[in-house]
Order: sequence, then structure tokens, then C-alpha cells
Amino acid sequence: MGGCASTRLPGKYSNNIGAEVVTKQMITRRTVVGSLAGLAGAAVVSGKEAAAQTSPAPKVGAQQWDVVVIGAGVFGSWTAWKLLKQGKKVLLVDAWGPSNSRASSAGESRLTRTEYGGDEIYTRFAWESLPDWIALSKKAELPVFHPVGALYIYQKEQDTLAASMALNKKLGAPMHRIERAELLKNYPQLGLDGIRFGVLQPTMGAIMARRGVQMVVKEFVAEGGTYKQLAIQPPKPGAALDAITSTSGETVRAKQFIFACGPWLPKLFPEVIGTKIVPTRQEIFFFSPDAGDIRFDPPQLPAWVDADEPGVPYGFPSLETRGFKLAIDAHGPRVDPDTNDRIISAEGLKQVRAYMARRFPGVSKRPLSESRVCQYENSDNGDFIIDKHPKWDNVLLVGGGSGHGFKHGPAVGRYVSELAVGKLAKVEARFALSSHKYQG
Ligand SMILES: Cc1cc2nc3c(=O)[nH]c(=O)nc-3n(C[C@H](O)[C@H](O)[C@H](O)COP(=O)(O)OP(=O)(O)OC[C@H]3O[C@@H](n4cnc5c(N)ncnc54)[C@H](O)[C@@H]3O)c2cc1C
Repeated sequence: MGGCASTRLPGKYSNNIGAEVVTKQMITRRTVVGSLAGLAGAAVVSGKEAAAQTSPAPKVGAQQWDVVVIGAGVFGSWTAWKLLKQGKKVLLVDAWGPSNSRASSAGESRLTRTEYGGDEIYTRFAWESLPDWIALSKKAELPVFHPVGALYIYQKEQDTLAASMALNKKLGAPMHRIERAELLKNYPQLGLDGIRFGVLQPTMGAIMARRGVQMVVKEFVAEGGTYKQLAIQPPKPGAALDAITSTSGETVRAKQFIFACGPWLPKLFPEVIGTKIVPTRQEIFFFSPDAGDIRFDPPQLPAWVDADEPGVPYGFPSLETRGFKLAIDAHGPRVDPDTNDRIISAEGLKQVRAYMARRFPGVSKRPLSESRVCQYENSDNGDFIIDKHPKWDNVLLVGGGSGHGFKHGPAVGRYVSELAVGKLAKVEARFALSSHKYQG
């Protein structure tokens, strides 16, 4: 973190129709940067401005930015921060705020693992991202990363496991096989019918999603980036793109634009993305164990994935006393992220209770303590979409996290920033728009 903590900034925030308001109140950078609530409410926050001026900050729309990143989810936030580190003058904007409750990066926790069936790209991305998450966690007042371990349980031998083990060994990522007898001994709270063996990654675990993204934005701002709450309109077709416009009528000029709008990408680019990304409704359940029952707390229970079970249930121990968390990875119905209501279904709850009765009997009858509804933003095959806009050379589209993108935030940010500054000559074929099919 550079700069002087006592430097004063004019206090600015947006009213609820997006118009910028400059308050008379003067707030320190530490005040804004030091509070998550301040971050979400502060429309304009700039470390460089703080160091450079005592008069009110110029309106962000009046500036020419090197890069504007649209979308402060996990992909956009890390991209903005990595671009700043490449020396770029960066504006990050979001319609509702970093990791807001409708974003795919919202909510409590995300699993990080490097068991990817031996897939080089995602294994390496996940492993490369971990030090950044750990470093961020060390800076944060509350943990961003909980190294509770990641356990996969299997009903049959896996064709890809040997390759995955070999790749993880090469990278130095701890991963070992646990036979059934040892699983029974180590995890007596698990009902293991049908389970033959497990694989444990003891140094992996849970990233705190909302807190993590908001910390990234705080650090980005503290190091000189600017964040503003702006909802950007779909860019108008034309020969070139040198400016974008917000719904409040503000024009933002830049040399480059990076759209990291998650499940909203199809709405912004209906022709280019369309159904190459399909948002689906995903339900998440929390159950509080019996009073005094610590079997579902870390370290007794790691994060876990029931890999061969239909729907692939997965979950977390009670992190920070939130409760035992359970979700089903199978894609739910298609949804619109703007209108998707956030009430879990009775069928979903019935399904997870039936599953818990077998696999987690000690908590299966406990009342639901909390729930969430989020959306995956799925590409056709789960590969990310990271590519230049086919018409505009200065526009990158970044998305398609497909239910597994969160952990890769730092690596995606590094990758996209290198693409943007020309350090990478061409896009990875698997991320290219042309590699992804429309999904009907
Ligand atoms: C329930 C659930 C569980 C998951 N579990 C895991 C897991 O265990 N491990 C893992 O690695 N991944 C997991 N994922 C996947 C991962 O969370 C997502 O792939 C990732 O968060 C997507 O991030 P994003 O930045 O692309 O999108 P988002 O987080 O949705 O960010 C996009 C942002 O763009 C903004 N925006 C949209 N339109 C505009 C506009 N017009 N103007 C300005 N801003 C705009 C939005 O407000 C939003 O903040 C899970 C996802 C869900 C939903």
C-alpha cells in the first residue's frame, strides 16, 4: 500500500439513481479504504487522486483512462488490480458494487482446489492463484482464506486421478489418497455408504467470496486505482469503441475496455456472447448443528465434494460459525440475473435433506439456518471465455466462470492484464469465443 494515510479526499457517493453527489464531508482515504461499507457506498475512490490533489477530484467521466474494467466481481476486480500493477491508469466500475448480492461472486464461501482431473490450465491457474489469496488474507482483518482442506469422496476408481496426482505432485500441491477404512476413522460424521476412497488436499479450502472481492477492490484503490459505482449501457455498434455510457448519462473514455460482467455479459453483448453464456439458478443451504456439536466445524470437517453422487453435492464445514453448508453442483434452471428471485425451492430443500440423511445424518434433521440463491454463468463446456471482441480490438470480454471460476480470480486477472498490455500474443484457444458454442 503506497501513499499517505492522512491524505484527505472529498467524500463522494452516488445517490440511488446513479447521479454523483459530492458531499461537504471530507473523509480520509483510510476511512474509505478501511471500511467495506464505505467501499460499497463510495462511488469514487482513488488513491492517486488522494496523493495528487487537495481540490475536489475530477469527475471520472472527464478523464481519459488507460483501461476501464466493467464489473467488480472476482474476475474484474483482480484484472483491475493486476492492470494497475502493470502501470496502467485504471477505472473499475460496477452497477451495484463489488461482489454485490446479485453477482456470481456474491455469498460466503468458495472452494479452492487443484484437483482438476489433470487439466493443466485450471490446475495451474488454481495453484498460481492460491498465494495471492493467502497474501490478501494476511492483510485482511478477517480471513479471506480458510485452509480447512478439500476432501473428494469417490464411489469408483477415477480414470483421471493418476494424471491429476502426477500434475499436483509436479506443482508441489499436496494431495493424497485416503482409503475407506481411514475415511471412516477420520470422518465419523460422514455416512460413507458406497464410498470406496477419498482424496485430500490438506492445504486447500475455502475462500471467503464477498469479503475477498471487496478486499481486492480496497487494495486496488489503496494502491492508486479508482472505483466507481456506474451501470454501463450496452455499447452501441460502430467502427470503434472509445467511450462507454452509464445509465445515468455519464460518458467514460478509455483506450481499452474490459467487460467482466459475469452472467450479464449476454445482455451487454447479445450478438457476440448470447447463449455462449447461460446463467442457471443455484441454491445454497446452511444448517446449524446441535448446540455444542463441533463435528461439522473445521478442522473436524474439511470442505468436501461427493464427486460420484448424482448432481455432485459439495459443501463446507461451519465457517466462522455460519453453519454447515451444502449445495448441489448440477445446473439449475436458466435464469435472468436481474429478475431471478432469491428464495430457495421446497424441492431443493427436500433434495438436500434426503441426501444429508445418508451422508451427514448428524445434521440432516437440523433446521435450515440460512439459504441463498445465486447463479452460475455457464459456458457450453465449462471453459472460460476470455477473448477480444470480434469487431473492437481494444475490447476484451471475460466471463464464463461456470461454477468453478472464483478460485482462479488472481490467475485470470494476471492473464487478462497481460493480454491487455500485449504481453501475451494470442488468446488461449480454449478461452476463444470461437471455441464456444451457442447453447440454444
Ligand atoms: C452458488 C455458487 C457456487 C460457486 N462455487 C464455486 C466454488 O466453490 N469455487 C469456485 O472456484 N467457483 C465457484 N463458483 C463460481 C464463481 O463464483 C463464479 O464463476 C465467479 O464468481 C464469476 O465471477 P465474475 O466476476 O465473472 O462475475 P460476477 O461476480 O457476476 O461479476 C460481474 C459483475 O458485473 C457487474 N455488472 C454487470 N453488468 C454491469 C453493467 N452493465 N455495468 C456495470 N457493472 C455491471 C455486476 O454487478 C457484477 O458485480 C460458484 C458460483 C456460484 C453462483
